[in-house]
This record gives sequence, C-alpha cells and structure tokens, in this order.
Amino acid sequence: MANKHKGTGRGHEDCCSFCGAKRSDVALMFQGVDGSNICNNCVDRGYQLLRESELVSGKGKVQSKSDDLSLEQLMKPQQIKAVLDEYVIGQDDAKRYMSVAVYNHYKRILSRQKGIGGDVEIDKSNIVLVGPTGTGKTLMARTIARVLNVPFTIVDATVLTEAGYVGEDVESILSRLLQVADYDVKAAERGIVFIDEIDKIARKGDNPSITRDVSGEGVQQALLKILEGTTVNVPPQGGRKHPDQKFIQVNTKDILFICGGAFDGIEKKIAQRLNTRAIGYGVQNSLQVDRENLMKYIMPQDLKSFGLIPELVGRLPVLTYMQPLTAEALRKILTEPKNAIVKQYEQLFAMDGVDFKFSDEVLDYIVEKADEYKLGARGLRSICEAIVTDIMFDLPSSDEKAYILELDYAKKRIEGSNFLQLKQVG
Ligand code: ADP
Repeated sequence: MANKHKGTGRGHEDCCSFCGAKRSDVALMFQGVDGSNICNNCVDRGYQLLRESELVSGKGKVQSKSDDLSLEQLMKPQQIKAVLDEYVIGQDDAKRYMSVAVYNHYKRILSRQKGIGGDVEIDKSNIVLVGPTGTGKTLMARTIARVLNVPFTIVDATVLTEAGYVGEDVESILSRLLQVADYDVKAAERGIVFIDEIDKIARKGDNPSITRDVSGEGVQQALLKILEGTTVNVPPQGGRKHPDQKFIQVNTKDILFICGGAFDGIEKKIAQRLNTRAIGYGVQNSLQVDRENLMKYIMPQDLKSFGLIPELVGRLPVLTYMQPLTAEALRKILTEPKNAIVKQYEQLFAMDGVDFKFSDEVLDYIVEKADEYKLGARGLRSICEAIVTDIMFDLPSSDEKAYILELDYAKKRIEGSNFLQLKQVG
C-alpha cells in the first residue's frame, strides 16, 4: 500500500497509485484531484485495515460478529421494523411479529449469557412465515440478518433427507452457516437460518402413515433437535457425512430458525376450522370472517392439518403470514425499497455516465403485466430485463448522456416474441 507512484506511469493507461494495478485489470478506479488513482481492491483492503485497527484499539463501533452482546446494543422491535420498512413493502403484521421475535431471541441469549432472570429460562422463538411465493419471505429473513450483522444462510427443505438416504443430511444446514461465518463457530452459533419450502416436507395426507415417509416426516423428525438446540457434529465442507471426516461441533441453541413456505391450499384447512368452530358453538358465523383473506386467521393447528408433525409445529412458536402482493404493492416494490429494481437499473446506467429513467407509464405497464401473468414480485425483474436488455447493450457504446424509457418502446419489447417465455417464471 505504501508503494506510492504516480498513476499515469505505465504507458497511457491509468494505474492505481497504491498497488500499481492497471485500470483495465480492476473493477473500479477512483481518481483524486492531483491525478493519483486508487483501485477498488485497495479501497477494500484499506477498509479492512481500518476496521481491524478500530477493533484492536477497542474504539471501533463496528461490532465483530462473535462479540458479546449487550442490551444497549440490541435494536428494539420498532427499530428493527423501521429497517425492514426500508427494504420490504407492506407485510406489516409479519414485520411486527418478526421484529418482536428477533428481539426476544437475542434477549434470551443475553439473559443466559449474563445470568439475568435466575431460574426463568426464556424459550426459543423460531419463526414460521406462511405466504405465497414471491411475497418477500426470504427478503424479510435476509434483511433481519443484515440488520443484526449475524451470519445468515438459506437452505431448501426439499434437498434435505434423513441420514442414510440420498440427499443432504440435515447437518449440512450448519455447514453452510459455518461457511458464511468464515468458520467462526461462535458467530455461527448466533446466526440465522432460513429454511425455505418447509411445506414441501409435510406429511402426505392427514393421518400419520404406518409406512415410513422418507422425504417428509423423516426430515421433520431430523430437524426437531436442531431447531430446539443441540450440539451437532458438522462436516465443515457440507455434503454427506462419512467416517473419516473431521467434524466441527456447533451448538444450535442460539441459532434462530426462520421457516418459510407457501402452504398451498392451507386456506381450505383454515376455512374448515373456522366453520367447525362456528358450528361447534352453535353460532351463525357471528364473527365477521374476511373470506378474501383467510390467511390472517392461521393457527398452529392448521400447520398440523397441512402435514407438519406436532413436535415441529411446537418448535416454531412464532407463526405469521405474508399477504399476496396487490398491484399497488408491486408498483411500490419497483421504486421504493432501498435497493429497488428501478434504482438498480439507474445505478447500472449511471456507471456508464447515463442518466437513465423509466417513465411513469412504463412502470405502470410493468406492474400491469406482472399482475396479468400472475408473476408477482419475482416477475417484475424479468419484465424489466426483457424491456431493458437491448438498451443496456447499445447505450454504453453511444454518446447519449440521458435516456427516458417510454411506453411505446416497452410495449414493443414485451409484445415481441420472447415475452411468452416469461410466463414460465415464478
Ligand atoms: P419468497 O421468499 O416469499 O418466495 P422473496 O423474498 O424471494 O419471496 O421475493 C422475491 C423477490 O421479490 C425479492 O428479491 C424482492 O426483490 C421482491 N419482493 C417480494 N416481496 C417483496 C416486498 N414485500 N417488498 C419488496 N420486495 C419484494
């Protein structure tokens, strides 16, 4: 880093004044007022050094992922929700539940760490998020992990199998968490795991079957212990366990598990329960049931009716739901979140020195199409790509400094032949 030489030394190409790398060899080169340069790698390294020295001197505000927690440092539920609001549109109920659950989870860790509360042991608050695909379940879990600066990983429940069968052992979940925590066991032990598609390991049929159900109930059984809290021998590289492997021991009692699933058809179970209750009490459905949005009445027993075993449901005490996204929500998703899709495109073009904008009519049109083809939020991105790809191909080589994408152009692109492929998305 100290090896300072003038940035323009090598031929005609700018070089980093710190490491000497050529502009063409690095992703970004920043130029100072005196013509000296610094490349993105040196900025990165400088930041690392700064961070390390702050941590060593104890002055740093940056908290290491495995540092001890303190109550003052914990974000309060309202603060957590405020950050969620920056990234996730709508889903107010789910945000509130999640914020409280996460806050309690870290208080629980604290109370044990500091020996607060005497004999009272706070239970784990693992979460289950129920709602249609593409409504922001993963985004919510990812944002929470970002807020808390803890290791975070996503696993797909459908690839998990019981030990001894083809597929990944349940322990592989923890291998991934270890990997993202750079093998800092203490940090991993306080991380967050998002288990997606938990509904896909539901028992088929309502009755417990006598024959063994490898893909469903077996995996649920295997997950129980990990969700509750236990010490697991984790193969560091993941995959399947084999006898000669070295293991790292990971305790899961402070890992927060957030499970997500669409639970297609669960509304029927909810409706059945609501109807039965009404008949049971001899009431003529006196409580005003919002038939359009049965999901908000979801209860743990509905998950059981759907095929999750009672023990698993018991280990996921925080149950909340995600609303289907309305056209209005989709419109906001395009432009409002901190890393909204539209902002991302603007940023991409800005790097070429082009001031790029979608016209309002185009944004409305994108939402209309996503809604029409039932593509949800995931579809927004595909539609934008279909519209913008040619422009992204041409603009960087042109002299244009500003570009407003108009409706006629967008329609031409979408009504062109390749839009049919989009229907497959989501
Ligand atoms: P899920 O996990 O429910 O299937 P995701 O969280 O993966 O859905 O969402 C898919 C994409 O759609 C995300 O990357 C995000 O950009 C967008 N998205 C979905 N729901 C929302 C929302 N409520 N607010 C902001 N963006 C959203």
